[in-house]
Amino acid sequence: MFKKILKKLKEVKERKKEKAYPNRFLKFYHLNKKKLNKERRFSYNERKKSGVCVRCKKKTVKGIVFCQYHQEKQKTYNKISRSK
Ligand SMILES: [Zn+2]
Repeated sequence: MFKKILKKLKEVKERKKEKAYPNRFLKFYHLNKKKLNKERRFSYNERKKSGVCVRCKKKTVKGIVFCQYHQEKQKTYNKISRSK
């Protein structure tokens, strides 16, 4: 009898664990984030090296990792977050 209760409790716990992810995409992300981040970092470095914007596929402005368009966007973004 007692064992049965324990088993039930365990099942409930397991179910709660699964519900921690609001959707299957986030679940996938959390289960694979180590690998995903590694891949992301790798492609970031690859783009940096080859002079391709890290946000799109355009050529970068010399010395930075963004293209003209994304550099402007980044400037605005920085201004906003600094003024907060
Ligand atoms: Zn860009």
